[in-house]
Amino acid sequence: MLVMKFGGTSVGSPEKLEIVASLVSEVTDDRIVVLSAMSGVTNYLYEMADKIEQGADVLEATLPILEKFEKTIFALAIGQDEKEKLWLNVKSRILAINEWVNEPNKKQVRQKIITFGETLSCLIVVGILINRGENVRYIPAINFMRLDSNGEPDYFYIQERIQDEIAKSSNDIIITEGFVCKTYDGLIGNLERGGSDYTASIIGRCLMASEVQIWTDIDGMHNNDPRFVEKTFPIENLSFEEAAELAYFGAKVLHPTCILPVQLVNVPVRIKNTGDPLAKGTLISHKTQGNGIKAVAAKDGIHILKIKSFRMLMAYGFVEKVFSVFSKYQVPIDVITTSEVSISVTIDNLENTDELIDELSDLGEVSLTSGHSLICVVGNFIADSHGHANKIFSSLKNVPLRMISYGSSDHNVTLLIDTVHKNEALNALNLVCFEEASLIC
Ligand code: ASP
Ligand code: MG
Repeated sequence: MLVMKFGGTSVGSPEKLEIVASLVSEVTDDRIVVLSAMSGVTNYLYEMADKIEQGADVLEATLPILEKFEKTIFALAIGQDEKEKLWLNVKSRILAINEWVNEPNKKQVRQKIITFGETLSCLIVVGILINRGENVRYIPAINFMRLDSNGEPDYFYIQERIQDEIAKSSNDIIITEGFVCKTYDGLIGNLERGGSDYTASIIGRCLMASEVQIWTDIDGMHNNDPRFVEKTFPIENLSFEEAAELAYFGAKVLHPTCILPVQLVNVPVRIKNTGDPLAKGTLISHKTQGNGIKAVAAKDGIHILKIKSFRMLMAYGFVEKVFSVFSKYQVPIDVITTSEVSISVTIDNLENTDELIDELSDLGEVSLTSGHSLICVVGNFIADSHGHANKIFSSLKNVPLRMISYGSSDHNVTLLIDTVHKNEALNALNLVCFEEASLIC
C-alpha cells in the first residue's frame, strides 16, 4: 500500500486537481490518497468560524466558499453533466453549514467548519477520478482517525478501523482527508495547522505502507532556505533524524510531527514535486548517507531566557530546579547552553511565561531577550570526523553568535543569532558549506 499526500498548493486550482488525479491514476499499487484543503481555504474557514461566532449571517459568510468551489468545479476537464452532479453535491454540503451552526456545542461548530476544506478537496478529486473510470472510494477520516486521551494518535484503534474500512470493498484508490480527526470523546477535532502530513504518516504506519509520499510545490527538502538564498538544491537522501531536525527547525516542506510515526516502523517518506513529478525529490529513510554538512534551516521568533544562579560555584540541583519550573508551566525548550553559574534556554512562544519567569526569578537573575533566529545546520557529524565546526564558524565570522549547541547529537549544530543577521548568515553558510565546497570537489 502506498500513501500519497497532496498539500494545499498541489490541489490549489482546477488544473492542479486534474494533475493530482493523473498522478494518482498513473500508479499501479493500491494507494490511499490524503488531501489537504485547497490553498487559502483553511485560512478562510478559520475567519469564517470567527465571523459566525461573532454573529455574522451564515449564508453571507459561506458565499466566498460557494463561489470558489463553483468556479473550480466548472473549470474542471470533466463532462458538463458530471460537473453539474459534482457541484450539486458540493453545494449541498457547503449549505449544510447553516444547520451545523444551530448545534449547542459551539466548539464543535468551529471544528466542523475549519476541517471542512479537506472534505471539499476529497469530493472533487473523487469526482474527477470517477469520471476517468477509476475504482475509487472516499473514506471520511473521522471513520478511523482518532486521538487518545493524551491527544496522541490512538494507533491501535486507527489500525483496526482503517483495515476494516479498506476491507469493506475492493477499491484500487482510497481518498481521505488530512488534518481531520476525532477526539478521545468522539468529537470532531484536528491535527493542528499543517497536520495533513501527520495524517499521511499515521496512516503509513498503521498500514505498514511501502512508502509515504508527500507531494508539494518544491522538488524536495533543500540544502538551504530558497526564500532567502539563491543557489539551493534538493537533497536526495536524508535520514529520519536529519529530516526531523530540519523540519522542526525551520524547513517548511514537511511538518515536524510527520517523521516519528513512520520512523518507528521504518516506512520511508518521499517528498515529491507535483509541478515536476519526474524530479527525484528527497527520500527520507533510516539510512544515513555521506558525512558532513547537508543542510541549513532557520526558525524565527525565538526568545532567549537566561537564568543566572544567585549561588556561585559548585552549587548542585540548580539545573533540576530550573527545568522543573519549565515542566510545571509546560513550556517547551528548544536549545540549552550552560555555564558553571547560568543556564540559557530558547523558547518559541511567550504564552504563559509571566508566571514562569516569576518563579524562575526565585532561583536566580532572569533575563529575557527576543528577536532571535535559530540556525540549524544538519548533517552527519560522527564523533571522529572534524572540520565541520570550523567551516560553520569561519563562514559566520561577521555574525554575532548568541548561543551555540554542538555535540548533543551527531546530526546538528544549532546557533542562535539576532534575526536581523539571518539572511547574511544563511547566505554565508551556503557559500562556505556548499558553493565553495562543490568547487573544491
Ligand atoms: N488544511 C490544513 C492547514 O492549512 C492542514 C494541512 O493543509 O496540512 O493547516
Ligand atoms: Mg504542508
